[in-house]
Amino acid sequence: MLEESSQSPQRNEFRQALAEAKHIIVVAGAGLSAASDIPTFRDGGGMWRSLDSTSLATPEAFTANPSLVWQFYHYRRTKALLAHPNAAHDATAKLLIPAYLKKVAQQAKSFHLITQNVDGLSGLAFKATSQKLAGNSAKKVPTPKTSTLEMHGSVFAVQCTECGYSTENRSLAVCPSLAAADASFQNLQDAGTKHRDIPLEELPRCEKCGALARPGVVWFGEKPHHLDAINSLVYEADMILVIGTSSTVRPASTFAYRVKRHGGKVAVFNLEASTQDQQADYVFVGPCETILPSLFPEFD
Ligand code: NAD
Repeated sequence: MLEESSQSPQRNEFRQALAEAKHIIVVAGAGLSAASDIPTFRDGGGMWRSLDSTSLATPEAFTANPSLVWQFYHYRRTKALLAHPNAAHDATAKLLIPAYLKKVAQQAKSFHLITQNVDGLSGLAFKATSQKLAGNSAKKVPTPKTSTLEMHGSVFAVQCTECGYSTENRSLAVCPSLAAADASFQNLQDAGTKHRDIPLEELPRCEKCGALARPGVVWFGEKPHHLDAINSLVYEADMILVIGTSSTVRPASTFAYRVKRHGGKVAVFNLEASTQDQQADYVFVGPCETILPSLFPEFD
């Protein structure tokens, strides 16, 4: 394991390994979006009012108190709606575009971004970067294969609890009662005792069947999206970049170990070192929004 800054000899070793890798995956977590002012769950930003965010991100919490959980997701949607992609999103978005990827990973046949984030910022960064490139047809390269997989869904998805119908909703509030409850909280800290009880019929409802809708995210204890495709990608990968995740939530926490076990390389990008880094070949400690762009000067 190497643990040094992005200016160290491991920078060259990492770049050499990336240049030789054929099937590259990224597993990203909340740290990727930290510089966009989206709170992570574990490093100090894990509270919403007086409540632990992880205790609200469960099916049991929603069943017990859908009004409270919707208010929590109203807050998270608002943060995501107001946020802009940061330099780490931009760097990973460029890796998804074959014309850029080929500059740093000449042997690459595939590159897939698997994100645990539900804020949609990787998608926005990809769209913006693709649009910039669209004018320059000479730079278009047909391969390698690339994709983004949002394994924990999206805060902008609204999903029926009965029929499963799901829609994307990027308006400021999914329904008027959520906007009103939020406005009444400006000066209150304790959501646990003082939250507003919104009647079930005033919470978001399914457009198709009228039943109660829920946020279209994957909660703790639920099955992630795209799991079969992700398992195939992890199986095939000969390099994984682990960006801004505490690697505590399964199955994403297992990907690096699985790539390593079949002989692939592991590169970790995190604000803090961790005991789990021992399995990594390269460890870049620091803000990913600074380190990632500094590793790829050819993207400027
Ligand atoms: P986490 O909160 O458990 O861990 C965040 C990790 O990011 C920590 O290891 C921290 O050291 C690191 N980090 C913080 N700032 C960083 C930076 N600037 N550069 C590099 N690393 C940085 O998040 P997780 O591992 O993604 O797992 C928690 C779960 O919470 C996931 O299931 C995810 O869906 C959900 N979540 C998503 C968002 C989002 O969509 N942005 C935000 C919070 C939580």
